[in-house]
Amino acid sequence: MAGVYIAYPFCAQKCTYCNFASGVFPRAQERRYLEALLAEVRAHAWEWRPETVYLGGGTPGNLAPDDLHAVLKAIPGRPWLEATIEAAPGAISGDQARHWTACGINRVSLGVQSFVEKEIRRTGRKHTAEIVAREIRLLREAAIGSINIDLIAGLSGQIESSWRESLDWIERLEPEHVSVYMLEVDEASRLGKELLAGGARYGAAEAPDDDRVAAFYEIAVERLAGLGLNRYEISNFARPGWESRHNLKYWKLEPYAGFGADAHSFDGRMRTRNAETVDEYLNGARQVGDLPHCDERFFVSLRLMEGIRPDAQEWQRHDAAIRKFLEAGLLEAADGVLRLSNRGVLVSNEVFAEFLTS
Ligand code: SF4
Repeated sequence: MAGVYIAYPFCAQKCTYCNFASGVFPRAQERRYLEALLAEVRAHAWEWRPETVYLGGGTPGNLAPDDLHAVLKAIPGRPWLEATIEAAPGAISGDQARHWTACGINRVSLGVQSFVEKEIRRTGRKHTAEIVAREIRLLREAAIGSINIDLIAGLSGQIESSWRESLDWIERLEPEHVSVYMLEVDEASRLGKELLAGGARYGAAEAPDDDRVAAFYEIAVERLAGLGLNRYEISNFARPGWESRHNLKYWKLEPYAGFGADAHSFDGRMRTRNAETVDEYLNGARQVGDLPHCDERFFVSLRLMEGIRPDAQEWQRHDAAIRKFLEAGLLEAADGVLRLSNRGVLVSNEVFAEFLTS
């Protein structure tokens, strides 16, 4: 059973660390985008009934009720096993939450990033911890059964005590799922440019170094495990049974269809992707073919803590790299299964890069 991804790259503000092709655009462009998106979804020849739907962004939580309804109505298969909408805390009302449920949404992913006001302000976001708590109550009252909270380790000004404060809020709010991202500052983001220029805006002078970011991440792994939220993927933690069914499709190389700017699709054999920017998408650039790299399985599936079971050819092809990482303690092997060690998780990009070239 396949999944559907809908890209809505519009946000109320541009976060200081963000360099996605998303952000604030003129209203008229958003309208044109929605029309193009709807046309793309409606024109799709559905050969299967989607099992999961994921509205990502950007901030699809800001979609007007009628627009959200129209997009979801064009996707067959309701009720879906899992239908997620990404939302920014600070603008969620009870009416909106009820509308989401009525449209078939049963999972909300909140871009909280931090519960500490100084850190939140420096990202350009406007919520407070209390607002997040109130909105989660509204979501629960509207029968949203699954909530994810995103956190970022490595925000400007973050110190161990403030990081622990954000984790305390996770304990209080009891989400089913938490994503923890280790911030790698993109040089083209506002924060990245400020860092390169040696400036202090957005708290650039107080950005934690890589070692501290890794230490924060490890604190989170331990703390979340204590709360029953187990790490099942490098950045993702869930109570048993609440793992993201949709995102698991990416890591297990199961099929999905993506719609909108920069959306990727995979039919089980061939990968395609839409044009990256809103402008290119509106100009009709669609579906650039892209055959998966034959070693894609290694750097996608290895993200899962359960690891992968390489076949004989894969063991042979990557023999040198596997041996090197086993000796360095970055990979572990047992009963034919290969997985990242706790240390390997912290440098996973380096491990994956080697598999691409070995
Ligand atoms: S981080 Fe998310 S909400 Fe912020 S600008 Fe980027 S896409 Fe938008």
